[in-house]
Amino acid sequence: MSITAPKDTPVWVDEHRCKACNICVSYCPAGVLAMRDELSAVLGQMIEVVHPESCIGCSECELHCPDFAIMVAKRDEFKFAKLTPESKDRAKAVKDNKYRKLNV
Ligand code: SF4
Ligand code: SF4
Repeated sequence: MSITAPKDTPVWVDEHRCKACNICVSYCPAGVLAMRDELSAVLGQMIEVVHPESCIGCSECELHCPDFAIMVAKRDEFKFAKLTPESKDRAKAVKDNKYRKLNV
């Protein structure tokens, strides 16, 4: 069972399933995803969709999440962004920041 697709959203998370493994963040080429501190979560972190406007709809996050916790809109239901140099740079910066949200 997955949660209902929110309207006008490229990518969304079922936080009850996420175990904060970072895999989706490591695969995202556009710096859309990052981990936030979440004291109530098992590992003290939780996935967050920090830049939905940059999502290119590649579905790498959904394909690689071992817990079916992240979902991507269908191409015929959402107009995704193009991959930009800024998005790529942000993706690298997040990975260099141990997958955590950037303080910007
Ligand atoms: S669909 Fe692609 S660009 Fe969008 S959040 Fe997932 S991995 Fe990142
Ligand atoms: S891959 Fe899945 S379980 Fe791992 S951090 Fe991302 S959403 Fe959470």
